[in-house]
Amino acid sequence: MTQNRLSIADPIRTNDIMRKYKLRAKKSLGQNFLTNEKVLDDIVDASGLKKDEIAIEIGPGIGALTEKLAEVSEKVFAFEIDESLMPVLADTLQYYDNIEVINQDILKVDLDEFVKEKHLEGKTIKVVANLPYYITTPIMLNLINSDYPFQSLVLMMQKEVAQRVTANPGHREYGSLTIAVQTQMKARIDRIVGKNSFIPRPKVDSAVAVLDRLPKDQIGIEDPEFFNKLVRSSFMQKRKSLMNNLLNWLGRTDENRERIKDVFEKCGIAENARGEQVSIEQFKQMAVEFNKK
Ligand code: SAM
Repeated sequence: MTQNRLSIADPIRTNDIMRKYKLRAKKSLGQNFLTNEKVLDDIVDASGLKKDEIAIEIGPGIGALTEKLAEVSEKVFAFEIDESLMPVLADTLQYYDNIEVINQDILKVDLDEFVKEKHLEGKTIKVVANLPYYITTPIMLNLINSDYPFQSLVLMMQKEVAQRVTANPGHREYGSLTIAVQTQMKARIDRIVGKNSFIPRPKVDSAVAVLDRLPKDQIGIEDPEFFNKLVRSSFMQKRKSLMNNLLNWLGRTDENRERIKDVFEKCGIAENARGEQVSIEQFKQMAVEFNKK
């Protein structure tokens, strides 16, 4: 309940809004509206947003999360691709003067430029979103690798993707996505969210992942381009050994086999290891050793 109104997320209000605007959730845009207030409160709690901090939301939908973010932060910037939701949001969010809805595709926004345009440099900015699942990975990687260091990302995504993002070495889910995220961010799953928390009900379960930016001096990657190539090549064929994947990348010669063996030995990696058994620290060390040769 927000003052005397039902929250937007209340199933009765969500259904009313959808009826009033004759809305049909667009599957092609990953529209599944959250109607579980407890989940929304948990997302907001996980963000730890404060009154002097800025929230960026991706895909406000009909505004269920947006209103909660507005209540705890200084200002919310919400990027929504669907033009037909603009009048809906103008209506549902009319009680808040600290929300700016921007009708844009988040993948086409230069966030660093945006931060400058809005004079937000130096501000603590947190990204909080119930993501459109069809583009979770590009959105997440753009946010992580953007020039502006967003302090934290609290992102609802498909459960399987959250498990890959937060995996530890030795687990099936551990792979290049895990490493792309965890080299920059400390990652954990805050909670699992069942299908019944949404209208319409999605096909898969979801999870809220919390990613907190690591301090710069903990990142320790000198040549990100080479590091990324090394990681991607290491997981190219997940069933194959790391040695085989690296030989496919570098060329299958005796010289390369010896070179790789030598790097493995220096990094404490077994000759028959697979990529999923190698820690992020070992990947960093491998990158350094390959670059020495
Ligand atoms: N935040 C709302 C909620 O929790 O109920 C809606 C979340 S819904 C899973 C995802 C939202 O992202 C939809 O409103 C959809 O239109 C929007 N969206 C999809 N692709 C987008 C894009 N490329 N840029 C911005 N928004 C997008």
